Amino acid sequence: MGGYSVKSFYKCINFGGVGSLYGDDLWKVLCPQNIHVFLWLCLYNKILTRDNVAKRRNVDDLTCLFCNEKESIQHLFFYCINAEHIWSIVSEFFMIRKIQCFDDISSMWTSKKKRIMLNMITAASLWSIWTLRNDFCFQGRSWRGLGCGLAKLKRNLQKWTVLCDAAQVEVLRRFALLLDKHRGELLRIGWRDE
Ligand SMILES: [Zn+2]
Repeated sequence: MGGYSVKSFYKCINFGGVGSLYGDDLWKVLCPQNIHVFLWLCLYNKILTRDNVAKRRNVDDLTCLFCNEKESIQHLFFYCINAEHIWSIVSEFFMIRKIQCFDDISSMWTSKKKRIMLNMITAASLWSIWTLRNDFCFQGRSWRGLGCGLAKLKRNLQKWTVLCDAAQVEVLRRFALLLDKHRGELLRIGWRDE
């Protein structure tokens, strides 16, 4: 019931149809309901990255919280070093071309059965990038390297296992192992530098 009403509400607003090509399919992505709303905001470029906030009011600092580039949806979620690292692991795990823009993600929502776990993991990746960014922005946490992004993604996916059957949990478990492997490599690089 709840899911249906949220979906209906957001389906009513279509901003003149811009970006609505995959609007119906996003509700089928296996993820918590609040993440559907988040994906919807991404799809319509309504996420409050600093460039979007600057359209409404003065923003003193437009810089990304992970690097020195300007923060936009495309930068934060795809071009930034933090995002790039996550997408390279996703592409390694699923043996797909590296995801480079939001359209690469939304265009896979249509083949929901075949790509159910890929769609879940891309949604979790976007959500992890966004919530990690907000931790830095609003809670004053400090950036301690690429391992932070992988740890956040692993924690989020652990919470989402309640939505999965046994076979799907197994896919998440294997993906988490790959995240751990990459985190281990980052740690070893860190030790060598010291
Ligand atoms: Zn950046």
